[in-house]
Amino acid sequence: MISPVLPTYARAKVSFERGEGVRVYTPDGREYLDFGAGVAVTSCGHAHPHLVKALTDQAQKIWHTSNLYEMPGQERLAKRLIEASFADTVFFTNSGAEALECSIKMARKYHAAAGHPEKFRLITFEGAFHGRTLATIAAGGQMKYIEGFGPKADGFDQVAFGDLEAVRNAIGPATAGILIEPVQGEGGIRPVPNEFLRALRRICDEHGLLLVYDEVQCGIGRTGKFFAHEWAGAAPDIMGIAKGLGGGFPMGACLATEKAAAGMTTGTHGSTFGGNPLATAVGNAVLDVVLADGFLEGVRDRALTLKQKLAGLKDEHPQVIDEIRGLGLMIGIKCKVPNTEFQAAAMDQHLLVIGAGDNVVRLLPPLVVTDHDIADAMARLDRACREIEAKSARSR
Ligand SMILES: *Cc1c(COP(=O)(O)O)cnc(C)c1O
Repeated sequence: MISPVLPTYARAKVSFERGEGVRVYTPDGREYLDFGAGVAVTSCGHAHPHLVKALTDQAQKIWHTSNLYEMPGQERLAKRLIEASFADTVFFTNSGAEALECSIKMARKYHAAAGHPEKFRLITFEGAFHGRTLATIAAGGQMKYIEGFGPKADGFDQVAFGDLEAVRNAIGPATAGILIEPVQGEGGIRPVPNEFLRALRRICDEHGLLLVYDEVQCGIGRTGKFFAHEWAGAAPDIMGIAKGLGGGFPMGACLATEKAAAGMTTGTHGSTFGGNPLATAVGNAVLDVVLADGFLEGVRDRALTLKQKLAGLKDEHPQVIDEIRGLGLMIGIKCKVPNTEFQAAAMDQHLLVIGAGDNVVRLLPPLVVTDHDIADAMARLDRACREIEAKSARSR
């Protein structure tokens, strides 16, 4: 018999009823250290008092009015995102996939409005993940997500990760732009080299193409800068964000320059829920935390601590860990054992981590993680590695 919830998820047999900071608790009171943050979502940790207050204050005023009317909270959040980024304008969504749908539509519409409707194709990269809608599975290009869902949506040309020559060769008369995650998340925490992003910027400028970033996972302070591409100093024309933006309240956004957004006139796009008063109240509270003086500097400091300790862990467990990589608090442990085994061993130590492609386990702790939390996580990871080693010694 089919489960009440559509069985598309392979869930761990555990649930959490309460959280505080970097810790979550099962109904029977067992504590887990959360170094997954619900896939880079709970950026301010669980039950952050400032976010709880913003949500409950708003809940007592008004939840939803629709985009038929003005929304001061939404305008304020848009202005703050603009002030802190390359962008001139923002469209709010409920998810990352929708932020990417808007980004893709905008890139196409830009060329159509300029008299070139034939320019609708985006160049994408192997290992990419952009969401689960029909367009975004085609953009991501992974057959396991595409197969069985009808013809693959047209308009995406995928090239090898990091291959600039392939990008140049893929540009044709129908190319509208280039879509890339500055740090691949689901693909296995693969940071794109700074020089590569700068080269893409130059190529886009030369050919009149739009550079579109997917910072759904790597944005909102995750890498120690507000947006990951700031490390490269290569701004996009359009960018999708989500995950960390709502700190756990479902929301996303598409940011763009005035030029790139030129085709998105009244009636061309919309959303019932996108940017409603509840969501933007929380989004504004997240920005209060993440954009506060010294916060991102703190993220960079703690990220360095974590990375140094992980390098030590790798040296101590060379049969378990192959490589430590990533940017800021977006860290990948490439495993020598199956990453599912590593993940299960961490779970046994009550440490939540998240799997990714390329046999990687992701560490994506809340950005408010402390040195004490990091020391705690390291002790648990060390015990997990020892358990894996002991198990493989027994099976020999
Ligand atoms: C999670 C993710 C998405 C999709 O976001 P949803 O909210 O699940 O639709 C898109 N792009 C990247 C890089 C992501 O990590």
